[in-house]
Amino acid sequence: MKQEPDALGHFGPYGGRYVAETLMPALINLEQAFRQAVQDPAFNKRLHEILRDYAGRPSPLYFAERLTKAYGGARLYLKREDLCHTGAHKINNTIGQALLAQRMGKQRLMAETGAGQHGVATATAAALFGMACDIFMGTEDIRRQAPNVQRMQFLGATVYPVRSGTATLKDAMSEAMRAWVARVDDTFYVIGSVAGPHPYPSMVRTFQSVIGTEARAQILKKTGRLPDMIIACVGGGSNAAGIFSAFLKDAKVRLVGVEAAGFGLKTGLHAASIGAGSIGILHGAKSYLLQDDDGQVRNAHSISAGLDYPGVGPEHAYWADTHRVKYCSVTDAAALRAFDDLTRLEGILPALEASHALAEARKRARALGRKAVVIINLSGRGDKDLDNIVAYQKKHREH
Ligand SMILES: *Cc1c(COP(=O)(O)O)cnc(C)c1O
Repeated sequence: MKQEPDALGHFGPYGGRYVAETLMPALINLEQAFRQAVQDPAFNKRLHEILRDYAGRPSPLYFAERLTKAYGGARLYLKREDLCHTGAHKINNTIGQALLAQRMGKQRLMAETGAGQHGVATATAAALFGMACDIFMGTEDIRRQAPNVQRMQFLGATVYPVRSGTATLKDAMSEAMRAWVARVDDTFYVIGSVAGPHPYPSMVRTFQSVIGTEARAQILKKTGRLPDMIIACVGGGSNAAGIFSAFLKDAKVRLVGVEAAGFGLKTGLHAASIGAGSIGILHGAKSYLLQDDDGQVRNAHSISAGLDYPGVGPEHAYWADTHRVKYCSVTDAAALRAFDDLTRLEGILPALEASHALAEARKRARALGRKAVVIINLSGRGDKDLDNIVAYQKKHREH
């Protein structure tokens, strides 16, 4: 299994750099700076220190005994990214990119955000490094995610409303790419998942690979062997790529990526780019995405804001085609049920995104059998989702 893309950023036929000519020099410059940084012991030492002392790494690997009993089969271990500073894995990536920005002499970070989680993680890193921070966010998302807008503003970021299109994440990402063209000299564009033009997909995977590196050492220490299966949710695909990356070469470790099936794939209201999408170009890379017959990008739907993205990182498209990773999907309803299970049985409120991975474990645990060892990547905590869950339950009681 090849782990690095070719010189132009292709994973098989996917990835690449489908961007305006004006952005090419900036992407090439970024790629070179990234390559040098990851080979520099001083950069890696500083990154490691910040992840340890500031973000709270390593995150624990927890054996969920009561959940294991309830699901009636495989031994279930949770990689606790929910315990990271700011409550999810996103901080691993924004700290890495901010440190790189500092090394490149940039004074400003900019980012797009959908639900606001990546915006908050970027604004946090900007505060830590004393940088200015501009966040692009659709007006519809600003309305739905007011607390995260406040968090970003308290952290010193400026939030720019994006009114174009459906005023959601894909529009914010397009607008952020346009704005970057005008300011690339002093501004570093922080992308929040393994998406976008080369080198972002491999760079973000590299910064998230700490999840897999830790999980591998932790499971070997606890069980004396490699896991049979790893399950992670897939929005753009960064938490999944991060944990999968340490196990790609172990053919016996089955890797499972879980997309959001929303109301069900047949309804069209979902976010399953691999499961029900087609090949196209979005945000500078070729991959699977949700589009209509005219190639217009469709809106995704998921109860979980972090999975609500109409594309997926190009490396996932490659893993899907080569069958190294098996992709499946879980509905809103099944994710909510898994949210309930973990909360009641273990006293851990999982993010709705991570609840999709838990729901997939629920489906598979019995058939895997009691000797099997499964790691579920618990990508974040659920406190951010409580209002959303209450609203969903209310709506469903009414219908
Ligand atoms: C953003 C987010 C995701 C989805 O992003 P990926 O890039 O697919 O990891 C998953 N879980 C949580 C908690 C998130 O905040």
